Amino acid sequence: MEITILENKKKYNRVSFILKDTSSVFANMLRRVIMDEVPTLAIENVEFRKNTSVLYDEIIAHRLGLIPLVTDIDSYKLPDECTCKGEGCSQCQVSFSLKAKGPGMVYASELVPKDPKILPVFPKTPIVNLGKGQVLEFEAIAVLGKGKNHAKWSPGTVYYKYRPQIELAKGIPNPKEVVQSCPVDVFDLKNNQVIVNKDNELRCHLCGNCVDVAPNHIKLNESDKEVVFFVESWGQLSPKEMVERSLEIFKKKLDDFCAQLNA
Ligand code: SF4
Ligand SMILES: [Zn+2]
Repeated sequence: MEITILENKKKYNRVSFILKDTSSVFANMLRRVIMDEVPTLAIENVEFRKNTSVLYDEIIAHRLGLIPLVTDIDSYKLPDECTCKGEGCSQCQVSFSLKAKGPGMVYASELVPKDPKILPVFPKTPIVNLGKGQVLEFEAIAVLGKGKNHAKWSPGTVYYKYRPQIELAKGIPNPKEVVQSCPVDVFDLKNNQVIVNKDNELRCHLCGNCVDVAPNHIKLNESDKEVVFFVESWGQLSPKEMVERSLEIFKKKLDDFCAQLNA
């Protein structure tokens, strides 16, 4: 299998690459392992000391669980793999406290973590708007978890598509119409002829608009051996960490499988 990186921009928290000589089965396996098995930290338990806000404890706890937390994945263990056997210790959980008094919006940035490395990815995430004199006070525990158990632990979104293949015949009678039909600018005009813009070719999502306007001159196909793969992070881990971890996890699964076969 050959891999070509298309985009790896830190500021967009996204990587994309082409997998050649592969199948959708492999691509989907990779997608599932990244989204469902690569662990991140998320708030799992909240103990409210005071809450006189307009939101019930349960609603605030739910909102807290969905706040993405910067995850130092090497410093924490999954609770069921920890030496404490899931009872809770500094190796498998991190606590946060928050005390706020209204009036005003309470933001994720007001969470005070015991481990200063574990901070909300988006500090401006609102938790609740407190009215005058209302108070909110709680302790929260974040643990490592997996997206297959709850989406709050998923590190991001991963998707793929077959590589589009576009064939243009000569003598398209309505070149301008073809160029305008494409919502993602795959075509350009050159000497009044339609050409494929190589920079935008992979943006084609096979909507078929261009074929509708020139059915006898454009053929669309999707490669069954090349997959364009996209990994977007919610911010807990970098896309690179997401891919690397998923491969380690998959390798461990294969090793376990081999060990069982050899037992
Ligand atoms: S199928 Fe859609 S996206 Fe692809 S080139 Fe044609 S119009 Fe553009
Ligand atoms: Zn532990």
